[in-house]
Amino acid sequence: MPDLVEVPTPPVAPTGAVVSVRASGLCRSDWHGWMGHDDGIRLPHVPGHELAGVVEAIGDRVTRWQVGDRVTAPFICACGRCEQCAAGNHQVCDRQEQPGFTHWGSFAESVAIAEADVNLIALPDSLDFVSAAALGCRFATAYRAVMTQGRVQPGEWVAVHGCGGVGLSAIMIAIAAGARVVGVDVSEASLELAAQLGAETILGAGGVASAVKELTDGGAHLSLDAYGSAATAVNSVRSLRKRGRHVQVGLMTGVHATPPIPMDLVVAHELEILGSHGMAAHEYPEMLEAIASGRIDPQVLVGRTISLEAAPLALAEMDAHAHPGMTVIEVR
Ligand SMILES: [Zn+2]
Ligand SMILES: [Zn+2]
Repeated sequence: MPDLVEVPTPPVAPTGAVVSVRASGLCRSDWHGWMGHDDGIRLPHVPGHELAGVVEAIGDRVTRWQVGDRVTAPFICACGRCEQCAAGNHQVCDRQEQPGFTHWGSFAESVAIAEADVNLIALPDSLDFVSAAALGCRFATAYRAVMTQGRVQPGEWVAVHGCGGVGLSAIMIAIAAGARVVGVDVSEASLELAAQLGAETILGAGGVASAVKELTDGGAHLSLDAYGSAATAVNSVRSLRKRGRHVQVGLMTGVHATPPIPMDLVVAHELEILGSHGMAAHEYPEMLEAIASGRIDPQVLVGRTISLEAAPLALAEMDAHAHPGMTVIEVR
C-alpha cells in the first residue's frame, strides 16, 4: 500500500515554480507507475501529474508568474529550448520532465514545476480547481487527439475505444465539434456516461470492429484507442472506413507495447496511424476558450472527489475497483 507521510516542501529552481496543490486527478498512468510499469521511477516516490493550484514560490529567473496566481500545467513539462520546443512541439520535448514520473508529483500539498515561464497556464476565474485538475492530462490529451492529430470534421463518425477519463473527454470534444460518436467499453457504467454525453454505445470486447462498421455504415472516419492495450488498438484500426485515421492515445506499456496492427489494411485502405502525447501549454488557450463558452465542460466528467488521505487506497485499488468518470483528489 502507498503511504501518506510528511516530506519536505520541494525546493524552487531558478527557472521553476512551486505550486500549492488544490486538486490533482487520479489517472491510469499513476496506477501504471505504482505497478512498476515505468522503470524511470525510483522509490520513495510521490505520484500525481494532473494538477491545479496556486503559485507559492517562483525562481528568481521567472518573469511571467507571481505568487498567488491560479495555474495548471501539462503533464509533460517542456524545456522550451530543444529542437522540438523551437518548432512548438513541446508535447514531445527532447528534455521533458513529468511531475509524478521524472520527479515527485502532485499527490501532495506542494509540487515543483520546471521552466515555469514555458509550462504554467493561467486558469480563468470561472474554472474551479477540481475541473482544472482534469485538464492537465486526460482532457487536454483528448483535445489534441481529436482536434489536432485526429482532424475531426463535422458530420464524421468517430469511434472511441475505452470510455474512461480520456475516452469520455474525447467523446465530449468530438460531439462539440459536430461529429457523430460511438463509444466502446466493457463496462456498462462507463457506457452510460458515454450515452449521457450523446454517444452511441457498443458493449463488449469481441466483434467490436464489425459492430462499429455496422453502426457507422462502413466504419469510423476517426477512431481513438483511449484505453491503451493491444486489443483496443487493433479494434480501433479495424473499425476504420477507408482512408480513416487511428489515433493512439492510451499509453502502451509492457506486453501491450507492440500490438499486431493489421498493416495489410493500413496499405489497402490507406489508413493513417497517428500518436497523440499530451498537449503543449501554448495550445491551452483555445481549449480554455471552448470551456469558457460552455461548448465543452470537463466538470461533468468528474465522477467523484476524494481527500488526500483517501488517495493511497484509491491508487492501489484503481484497477480492481473501477469508478466511472474521473477521480479527483481535493488537497485542501
Ligand atoms: Zn524541449
Ligand atoms: Zn494522466
